[in-house]
Amino acid sequence: MSGGKGRMAAKVLLLSVPLAALWLVAQDLADPPGQVGSTTAPAPAPVISPGAAERLGGSIRLRTVSHADPAAIDASSFAALHDYLESSFPQAHAALRRESVGIHSLLYTWQGSDTTLRPVLLAAHLDVVPVEPGTESQWQEAPFGGTLADGFVWGRGAIDNKSAVLGTLEAVEMLLSEGFRPKRTIHLAFGHDEEVGGRAGAREIAALLSRRGVRLELVLDEGGVIGDGIMPGIGGPLALVGIAEKGFVSAELSAEAPGGHSSLPPRQSAIGIVSAAVARLEAHPLPARVEGATAQLFRALSPQLPFVQRAVFRNLWLTEPLVVRKLEASPTTNAMVRTTTAVTVFEGGTKENILPTHARAVVNFRILPGDSVEGVLQHVRRVIGDQRVAVRRAATFTAEPSAVSSTASEGYRLLARSIREVDPAITVAPYLVVVATDARYYADLSDDVYRFLPVRLGPDDLPRVHGIDERLGVEDYERAIRFYRQFMLNIAAR
Ligand SMILES: [Zn+2]
Repeated sequence: MSGGKGRMAAKVLLLSVPLAALWLVAQDLADPPGQVGSTTAPAPAPVISPGAAERLGGSIRLRTVSHADPAAIDASSFAALHDYLESSFPQAHAALRRESVGIHSLLYTWQGSDTTLRPVLLAAHLDVVPVEPGTESQWQEAPFGGTLADGFVWGRGAIDNKSAVLGTLEAVEMLLSEGFRPKRTIHLAFGHDEEVGGRAGAREIAALLSRRGVRLELVLDEGGVIGDGIMPGIGGPLALVGIAEKGFVSAELSAEAPGGHSSLPPRQSAIGIVSAAVARLEAHPLPARVEGATAQLFRALSPQLPFVQRAVFRNLWLTEPLVVRKLEASPTTNAMVRTTTAVTVFEGGTKENILPTHARAVVNFRILPGDSVEGVLQHVRRVIGDQRVAVRRAATFTAEPSAVSSTASEGYRLLARSIREVDPAITVAPYLVVVATDARYYADLSDDVYRFLPVRLGPDDLPRVHGIDERLGVEDYERAIRFYRQFMLNIAAR
């Protein structure tokens, strides 16, 4: 559909209300994909074992900071965390097999009684990002103190991602106390280098499982969270379950020039050449479209939206250009509809009176499912259209976008049900994760890869992740534990 015709059609749709109403009547008959009926009854709330929040705090005191250079990793912190988990969760460590993988990563196996059922894998990561030097004093509580104050557990990793590591083990410990034995095998996979790409951790765990011929029923890793007031028009908490994640590639642009004295400059310097290339890339982003996980998000939310918005999102075949224009206006929603272009590095020149012989820029792209690494690099070369600019793929991390997992699977249904059994007020919807997670390494082992961390974050909380004052509410943590318990119960008892 061409942009012009589409926009016109969208206007026609919005003006002709009786026609839109007809569509709505027809489409409201079916539950939209990805949305779960509003009839889930709450599960009985189990008692969380005393000291859960303190145990999470204790894990934060062990500074498992990841570094791109493996030699810089503090091995003793990871070893201390391994010991800490063992002493904090004695029943889990008696009943589950634990293996070290890639030195600092851990794979647990809770053997199920029915070996014909495919195992489920809950992933999390042991490592945390560093605290930016110089910001320590801006924290309300010490960043590695693991303090309990004002109803929160404070410190680096409280959300990302020790809440998931400790939370799943708390849930296993509870289930063992209750006498639960899984029919389906449950794996817990804790990588140690997610924050620097996951290559020595999650990738090795996935490779080990692959060598053993394991095929997984479902993978659950971090990704979406329970948002409070993050989506205009949606009242109440919204659980966003990532069903796909974007890819990642950086293009390095460089230009060489003869150099010399600045009193006799050429018409364009090396810096000017690379600047022009960067400006062209920013002016020509990759095309936007509403499809896949993002289209499913809006379809899932549409029953809660006002009449006109509902009609718009239910009829994307017609209204897509209008919706795209709205969504690309803010960085958050723009990232959901296109491969994004971010110029992140620019270097060139050393002295005011010397012409630079070299200039260099790095442009980072987050790739929408459907686009590809190769397609992005072709776009870069075509848009720049200048032989003087060398374009190459940066030698850092590269990842193709993931496949889109189904919202019609039994696994997704059980995941959504478990979320709502813990809190029936939550709306569950699928969405696209715009950052890279460890989950992609498990994509070859399962079609059903979901990315969801069961913690509640408001707009003010988002900057705390990787930022200052990371913290998790104690009650919120207890709800997360209940979710992990409920999910394991639902998926492994059958
Ligand atoms: Zn994380």
